[in-house]
Amino acid sequence: MDQIRTGELIRQLRTNKGLTHAYFSATRLYQELAEVLGTDVGTLLSGTIDKNESEKGNMKKLKFYVCTHCGNVITSTSDANVSCCGSRLTPLDAVKAQESEMLTVEEIDNELFVSSEHEMTKEHYISFVAYQNDSTVMMFKQYPEWNLQVNMPRYRTGRLVWYCTKCGLLYQDIRRKPSK
Ligand SMILES: [Zn+2]
Ligand SMILES: [Zn+2]
Repeated sequence: MDQIRTGELIRQLRTNKGLTHAYFSATRLYQELAEVLGTDVGTLLSGTIDKNESEKGNMKKLKFYVCTHCGNVITSTSDANVSCCGSRLTPLDAVKAQESEMLTVEEIDNELFVSSEHEMTKEHYISFVAYQNDSTVMMFKQYPEWNLQVNMPRYRTGRLVWYCTKCGLLYQDIRRKPSK
């Protein structure tokens, strides 16, 4: 390694990016510090690792992250720094489904049968359906060119959350049907 040329290159890149020497040193310091502390620079600079005890581990508060590059689905029960394919992922906000978007839920024996008329083409499809309540989460992977179909144990309450590659993250609550 030609130290003089490397030093010169770093100086040039730094100047191009308009970074001062002080900023540059601080960044390096943070990186080293983060490594020693077993965290990352983002967390260190935000100054907080805030975890609300009551929400920690509550499956109903589960956060969903979807990588739009590779389709990876990642979940966390409290705040997390999540990245995939080189991008930082932010948790998706689930939107309450409109009547027309709602999934069809039928009780068959001791199971719930979930289906939908939603488009299932490679360009536009529901990639997973999840059932969640306070203590449980179950994920059902769905594939394009296949009808959306989920068989799950019959729960009387809870929430269905699903992700569509175009519509985003939607949810509906499972309502207890009046007994006959
Ligand atoms: Zn990815
Ligand atoms: Zn859709």
